[in-house]
Amino acid sequence: MSQNLFESSGKESKVFKNRDIITPHYTPKKLPFREKQIEEITSTLRVALKGSKPNNLFLYGKTGTGKTATTKLVLGELVEFAEREKKPVMAIYTNCRNYNSKYKVLAKIVQKFYPEKDFIGYSGSFIYEKMTEFAQEREMQTIVGLDEIDKVKDVDELVYALTRANDELKHGGISIMGISNQLTFKERLDPRTKSSLCGEELVFPPYNAKELTEILKGRVEKAFRKNVVESSAINLAAAFAAKESGDARTAVMLLLRAGELAEKGGKEKVSDTEVKKAKKSVEQEITTEMVSSLPGQQKLVLYAIALLTSQRKGVRKLGKSEEKGVLFSGEAFDEYRRLALSLKESPVSARWFRQYLDELEMCGLIFSTPSGKGIRGNTRLIKLGIETEKIKGTLEKELGF
Ligand code: ADP
Ligand code: MG
Repeated sequence: MSQNLFESSGKESKVFKNRDIITPHYTPKKLPFREKQIEEITSTLRVALKGSKPNNLFLYGKTGTGKTATTKLVLGELVEFAEREKKPVMAIYTNCRNYNSKYKVLAKIVQKFYPEKDFIGYSGSFIYEKMTEFAQEREMQTIVGLDEIDKVKDVDELVYALTRANDELKHGGISIMGISNQLTFKERLDPRTKSSLCGEELVFPPYNAKELTEILKGRVEKAFRKNVVESSAINLAAAFAAKESGDARTAVMLLLRAGELAEKGGKEKVSDTEVKKAKKSVEQEITTEMVSSLPGQQKLVLYAIALLTSQRKGVRKLGKSEEKGVLFSGEAFDEYRRLALSLKESPVSARWFRQYLDELEMCGLIFSTPSGKGIRGNTRLIKLGIETEKIKGTLEKELGF
């Protein structure tokens, strides 16, 4: 009989011992260089075990600084301890990319409270009632981790609903742990939301090359076979990631892709060569992901810039040479408005548009400079920071053009 396609060929990987451990989805049990943050979150949440409501927490920092890993680790430990000690404490981790409205988040909480019931199709107020009822009756302290909270469309309403619930409860409580990569997210909040959400803040700074090396070493030891990854390859991956962004995810991805390249090429070592080759594809992957995770309006702003650039607008004579794709912020704004209206969306104001440009620049997706003398007021020159056609294609798919 012929062998089934899925039957293992009997060959084990010569490179990986446990490939999962070097993927970004894996949550390690130890997070070096985050001891301070872990300690602070733990001490804030600890009061839940004594029946009091912990303060809300707000965690922020760039992508890949360990916010998700830290949150999952601490909430996991809290749940384990509460179950062991039979304390009425629950923790609900939510990624708001998938739960991007007040309704969806509250429905998820209630579903977790009553796992045997089905709440699909119930009204928002019914779900809210169910949530407070459960907290009250069980005297439950619930921590709701809202990762990528900036993705929630009606975030002011969500924070208000969760905060207000506490005023109605005689027993139990609901605390919010908000997490965001967007450094300017806070400024966009309603002042009341801001004060209830951001009372206690924790910053996650980027990692330096030395820290990334240390982090990678820990992962490599568990993920790869012994002596497969050369230490110069680890140093190089850490150096690349530190230079780009201080992002541990980039560092981890570099070694994952480098390992795959070695495996495909039938090599038994992961060396600098593989890391260098991996760099291009990892950069591309990360850019695509960053673009797909932008909020809708920001995608549109970026698309307007990409569209004008690909139409060869903004060719400027600078002395004798020609510089391509240099746009005035005003023309990008006009194009953005046109696109928004064509999609029947209401465009944001010029002020928000500038804020969006700042955020895109912070992600390295665009560059900008003040336009200099002779041109009116607030004008900036902007230029796409990434390959035009690829990004245009990605955005067209995302936006449904
Ligand atoms: P963020 O949520 O801030 O974007 P993540 O928590 O997703 O970052 O971390 C990105 C990747 O880097 C994950 O694979 C994570 O396990 C890893 N990582 C981040 N910080 C550390 C650390 N201090 N030690 C080990 N791995 C880390
Ligand atoms: Mg995260």
